[in-house]
Amino acid sequence: MTSIANNIADILKTIPRNVRLVAVSKFKSDSEIMDAYNAGQRIFGESRVQELMTKYDALPDDIEWHMIGHLQRNKVKYIAPFIHMVQSIDSLMLLEELNKYALKRNRIIDCLLQIHIANEETKFGLSQAEATTLLEYSGFKDLQNIRIKGLMGMASQTVDQVQIAKEFQHLKVFFDLIKNKYFLDNINFNELSIGMSGDYQIAIKAGSTLIRIGSNIFGERNSK
Ligand SMILES: *Cc1c(COP(=O)(O)O)cnc(C)c1O
Repeated sequence: MTSIANNIADILKTIPRNVRLVAVSKFKSDSEIMDAYNAGQRIFGESRVQELMTKYDALPDDIEWHMIGHLQRNKVKYIAPFIHMVQSIDSLMLLEELNKYALKRNRIIDCLLQIHIANEETKFGLSQAEATTLLEYSGFKDLQNIRIKGLMGMASQTVDQVQIAKEFQHLKVFFDLIKNKYFLDNINFNELSIGMSGDYQIAIKAGSTLIRIGSNIFGERNSK
């Protein structure tokens, strides 16, 4: 067994069955990804469009690719033909662009709204008020080729576990609130993508359904 396969097995042992693992493979090679693939992993997360396209071309077709990094509108067309889920929706205009290219391809693309929960300025994402405005927008329901499946968030980079737990719990409260308000009869709205290598146990306690793990599987990265 490769160390990557071992790491995946170790993680899967500790998470409930309803939580799915997104292997974050940014900056990792095709052969490292294949080690994970051969261990049964099928969901991979990437944060840059160019890298995603190269890997999509080179790697097996049954991989579910998730975009987890900031996505520029002018790059949507490159990934729309194959992307399974865009977890990093941070504007209505991005959603509209995605819908346009999904329609061209006759596909439906799953999306998560990325909500800003950290107490840091630098992270991308919508505030809760901005997310609400987006969901209230009347043209929103005309977007037939995107499917909002839930929310994504990143906690502050801190060792303070109480702070991290608070941020995740806060997002779960918001998730429940907007599910009740906007997605009550929508069975698709059920994903909460929280938790990375350092904090996924806390995230699972807060209700995570998708954990995004890079370094605990593939080892440290040289870049973010
Ligand atoms: C890089 C990244 C991850 C994975 O981070 P690790 O700490 O290596 O597990 C998860 N989510 C997002 C949005 C990322 O950019």
